[in-house]
Amino acid sequence: MTDGLRAIVGAAHVLTLAGDVSAYLEDWTGQYSAAALAVVRPGSTAEVAEVVKLCNTYGIAIVPQGGRTGLCGGGVPISDQLSIVVSLTRMNAVRSLDVAGRTAVVEAGVVLETLHSTALEHGLIFPLMFGAKGSCTIGGNLSTNAGGSNVVRYGTTRELCLGIEAVMPDGSVINALTGLRKDNTGYDLKDLLIGAEGTLGIITAAVVKLFAAPRAISTAFLSVVSLDAAIEVLNRLQDFTGGGVEAFEYMPQPAVDVICKVFPNTRRPLDGEVGTGILVEVTSSRPQDAEELEDGSIRLEAGVMELLSVLMEEGLVLDAMLAQSVQQRNELWKMRELILEAITASGPAYHLDISLPLAQIAPFVDAMDPAMAHLGLQPLTVGHLGDGNLHYALSAAEGHIWETLPLETAKELVFEKLVALNGSFSAEHGIGQSKLSVMSALKEPAQLAVMRDIKRALDPQNLMNPGKLVPRA
Ligand SMILES: Cc1cc2nc3c(=O)[nH]c(=O)nc-3n(C[C@H](O)[C@H](O)[C@H](O)COP(=O)(O)OP(=O)(O)OC[C@H]3O[C@@H](n4cnc5c(N)ncnc54)[C@H](O)[C@@H]3O)c2cc1C
Repeated sequence: MTDGLRAIVGAAHVLTLAGDVSAYLEDWTGQYSAAALAVVRPGSTAEVAEVVKLCNTYGIAIVPQGGRTGLCGGGVPISDQLSIVVSLTRMNAVRSLDVAGRTAVVEAGVVLETLHSTALEHGLIFPLMFGAKGSCTIGGNLSTNAGGSNVVRYGTTRELCLGIEAVMPDGSVINALTGLRKDNTGYDLKDLLIGAEGTLGIITAAVVKLFAAPRAISTAFLSVVSLDAAIEVLNRLQDFTGGGVEAFEYMPQPAVDVICKVFPNTRRPLDGEVGTGILVEVTSSRPQDAEELEDGSIRLEAGVMELLSVLMEEGLVLDAMLAQSVQQRNELWKMRELILEAITASGPAYHLDISLPLAQIAPFVDAMDPAMAHLGLQPLTVGHLGDGNLHYALSAAEGHIWETLPLETAKELVFEKLVALNGSFSAEHGIGQSKLSVMSALKEPAQLAVMRDIKRALDPQNLMNPGKLVPRA
């Protein structure tokens, strides 16, 4: 088998030695890892297709892999099926960029931050944005339908994708890279592969949407009176700016405290307590919003400041800090992006990635925070609040020992509440291995049955990333 792989991709790109493969076998969380027959690094779609065909012949499972920043154990092998890892990182070309059409054709292994900088060279942005941008890949972003902080304005990765090229489980190649915005010619296979976490095929390239780079940016940290007030503030900002809110991130006191504790050089965003803290960013690509006013301020910033004064007078906003420089803006975003590392460094935690209708966010937090505290757990929450997405991490409250805490009871309470409030148990990180049991328990049986039918029809040998996303019947 490995000789066959070498013949396809070249000996240098088939890794089998323990020292060479170890990094590819463990995910970012460090919680999931298993052996693989080899790590294969194809350099073209044709090579990926040949590798998949060879695996079909030998009955070897395939784990597609990008930047390994996934948080659910999706991009690493499982122990009970012999597999190879197919790393897409060599397929990292931006094949073309259409400035007028505002699209780019990118290979799966392009690192998100590379696409950011390539687009910016043409005065454009690719708006997908989150902490792992320096390592995660477009293929991984599509396969997890990644979200991040700009979904409130631009949608998830699914909404940023116009076409896909992929190798299906039998080794056939589908090429849907036309980039058409309208194409009603049957089932949308692109949408089937997006969010499939590598269980239905290997994405090798995609057409993505680009947008005008903002001319004016206004970034602020707010302390608001309550979560309900935060939603009111979001809507008022949206109305005032014509939908210009690019990010609306929930960063309450415990989250800011844990970041400042683990990274002591972090500057606290406000002089006093942040309470219900919100990191908000508003942008505009309209030239008039970037105009400098007589007092030296930028029109967009002046407008946001004016609105915030009104919101303060109304008692919705208690305190606010507007970034006065690029450095201050970067500091605020750096703080936001450090949260996962801070929680990970500060001790064990159970990470929930949930979403709720906006109106149910406050009822959820108001009920669950005290319930968790009662069990000895401290929720360390941040969230893409504009999308109703909370990262609700349960850690040990001060004076409690993690191993002795009733985590299962806590999870049951959270899931019960989520179901009651019409929420989702996986907002943006996916299912992978880590949420298979919740998927079994909470996903509507009729939907699960259709998913299993699709998986069986496309991958009858169950070789494409087995043991992920679709729980066993
Ligand atoms: C610090 C940090 C912050 C994060 N913040 C966010 C956030 O705000 N929002 C968010 O959505 N996620 C976030 N994530 C999670 C993660 O970055 C995303 O899920 C990302 O999209 C994964 O991309 P990747 O290239 O690392 O994929 P991997 O981890 O390598 O793989 C993820 C899944 O996609 C599959 N896959 C990868 N490439 C392909 C391909 N070419 N074809 C088919 N399947 C493939 C894998 O098999 C696996 O199931 C964060 C992670 C970290 C570490």
